[in-house]
Amino acid sequence: MLRRILSCLAASCLAATLAAAGDLAPGVHLVPGRFVAGEQPDGNTVVFDGAGALIVFDTGRHAAHTDAIIAYAHTRALPVTAIFNSHWHLDHVGGNARLREACPGARVHASGAIEQAMHGFLARYREQIEQVLAKPAGDAAQATALRGELALLDAGAALYPDERITRGGTRMVAGRRLLVGFETRAVTAGDVWLFDPATRTLAAGDLVTLPAPLFDTACPARWQAALGHLAKVDFERLVPGHGAPLTRVQLRVYRTAFDHLLACSAGKAAKAACIDGWMRDAQSLIPAAGEELARNLLDYYIDGVLRDAAKKKSLCAA
Ligand SMILES: [Zn+2]
Repeated sequence: MLRRILSCLAASCLAATLAAAGDLAPGVHLVPGRFVAGEQPDGNTVVFDGAGALIVFDTGRHAAHTDAIIAYAHTRALPVTAIFNSHWHLDHVGGNARLREACPGARVHASGAIEQAMHGFLARYREQIEQVLAKPAGDAAQATALRGELALLDAGAALYPDERITRGGTRMVAGRRLLVGFETRAVTAGDVWLFDPATRTLAAGDLVTLPAPLFDTACPARWQAALGHLAKVDFERLVPGHGAPLTRVQLRVYRTAFDHLLACSAGKAAKAACIDGWMRDAQSLIPAAGEELARNLLDYYIDGVLRDAAKKKSLCAA
């Protein structure tokens, strides 16, 4: 994760808003995440209408993203009473504390995996950041960004769920019937997705990400299986964790590209060929502004995860 932010900062990642804000369907609103030069990403947020209340799926990382959620709630003059987190990555839970402050009484529903991550992956992330910040004469913009990351980690238990999700099933949330999906050891130890049958909207979190899959904490094979579970849901539109909403046909394109990427990485083909394969297979899903980012991400993940047997083993067993 740190390597990604540092490489992004070094390469001045393209500023690319990959989805447009607005209503996706009656009672379903998208607050899009974005990639901005010199910053880590924010995940997409989906806001569902409940009965006299709002349900928020993922809270972003940066204050500006979370403030856009709060501003939307103000426009609607409705309280946020339920927050779901797709998984514990900071671009999806980072806004929990800020949203809790703005909406006292909101209950967070998520996997409990964040508590383990806070003592493992995120603790190591904090150490890496502190080491970078301890070096003299660092880049000022980078230092500000990294201090922002420390502030998020300092929120600690305010990022944790009030209601731990341990299995999937249909439930009433703020008066709206939702199907909660729960995957284990796919992108993280616990990944949550939400399906709204009334509008056939599926909020997938980082089980679908564009312009490329983000393998930092993922077990590739179990992620592949989870994509099969999503394909069985009767959705009309799928909101990925990053990128613009997908149709059913587009999810098929994504799955094919994902399958080919895993197969290519498992074989002897040159890394560049696997990257080219993804770019070709997923071409219709990747905006021009995201092409360089997609290549940079895969350049890192193919060596860093897909072709690192020990790393993969630990991610799949974690
Ligand atoms: Zn994400």
